[in-house]
Amino acid sequence: MHNGARQEARTSPEAGTEPLIECELCGSVYRRRELAPRETASCSRCGSTLWRYSGLTLSNWLALALTALIVFGIANAYPVAFMSVQGMTQQASMLDAVIITWRQGHWVVALMTGLAGFGLPLLQLAVLLWVIGPLAAGREPPAFRQAMRVLGLLRPWCMVPVFLLGVLVSVVKLAGMASVSPGMGLAGFGLLTVLLTMLGRLSPHVIWRYAESAGVVPVHVPRAGPDVVLAGCHVCGQVQALPRDADPEETHACVRCHAVVHYRKPDHLARSWALLIAAAIFYIPANVLPVMQIRSLLGDSGHTILGGVVELWETGSWDIALIVFIASVAVPLTKLLAMALLLLTQQWGSATSLRPRTRLYQLVEFIGQWSMLDVFVVILLAALADFQGLMAISAGAGAAAFGLVVILTMLSAMSFDLRRSWDLERQGEIESPSSNFAARAAAAGEPAG
Ligand SMILES: [Zn+2]
Ligand SMILES: [Zn+2]
Repeated sequence: MHNGARQEARTSPEAGTEPLIECELCGSVYRRRELAPRETASCSRCGSTLWRYSGLTLSNWLALALTALIVFGIANAYPVAFMSVQGMTQQASMLDAVIITWRQGHWVVALMTGLAGFGLPLLQLAVLLWVIGPLAAGREPPAFRQAMRVLGLLRPWCMVPVFLLGVLVSVVKLAGMASVSPGMGLAGFGLLTVLLTMLGRLSPHVIWRYAESAGVVPVHVPRAGPDVVLAGCHVCGQVQALPRDADPEETHACVRCHAVVHYRKPDHLARSWALLIAAAIFYIPANVLPVMQIRSLLGDSGHTILGGVVELWETGSWDIALIVFIASVAVPLTKLLAMALLLLTQQWGSATSLRPRTRLYQLVEFIGQWSMLDVFVVILLAALADFQGLMAISAGAGAAAFGLVVILTMLSAMSFDLRRSWDLERQGEIESPSSNFAARAAAAGEPAG
């Protein structure tokens, strides 16, 4: 971790022409500078990573995105697994699983999984290619601002890695009942996960920085002064000067990408609480109602999430039981409790343990999508165990409720503004009453060694 000295903007001797960057978690503003290989700039206040060195050029990223698009095609064209029961073989691809779930009448589950596992990742790749292609050639992409805003919206909802884990869990679950073998599509999804994880580094903020360095868009350095506060645009990262005496929740248009900019997210506590309470309510049916219905010659049976974990444990697959338990029971509960803790400490006006609270918030954001695992497992089992008359698996009401818990907690975390918690610490630091909106411009994190 590299820590750097921080100075107040008003006391900063030189105006500076380097672009500014805002720490999205604590609101500190830094001067950006070029990093050396393997160097990372960290926020000296909250300790989170601000930006990293990347040796990749736009042409490299373009090649990576094109490869990902081809692998996306392969992964979805081939079945991810085969299953044989009494001489009959059933195969399923990602889309088969979604279509069968839709036909079974579970359209909420089909829509959620189809978008998170197929539609949105495909759109994300298309938008990436749309912007990186022209940028690599030194031109501004058509509708650049709009495309980047779409990209920012899509990023948290693409869940290809979760689907991959879902396939692995399904194969192990079914291995007890029938002979199951992985398909070509599984290898495709494995490779796609690696490629998309690498492309995940290419956030809208990073793409805008590439566009600046390529000279495609001008570099805008806001004026710092006693009458303004500095605020970063959540979509493109551009730091801009807003009038100090304005309401911090007032709506402004980003000087660079024209997205909505607030100095602090409006009504963050009310929105975040409302979404969290809704998630907690759906958490009850998600666990009480069966997520999966199995209809076989032996009769009908409903399976809840905890029941499924116990079953896996008893059949000896304790490793998979542990994965499902962590993803489906521990993670959602941790998220609900962690968000409640973050909201309560903010409401109590606590300015202590800010760094641990920041790490907790980052954890909530990181684990957000992984609870979707069991929903993917259910739709895959439905597609694989589709043997007319012999056996049929379909999603239960619990699966839709479970998916909604995941979506609502993710929205709750997105509505929360952690900078408000850091603002409380700021109050004691500067004497003026508007001190919690104090502008901060500081040197980039200097390497420690
Ligand atoms: Zn920070
Ligand atoms: Zn912007």
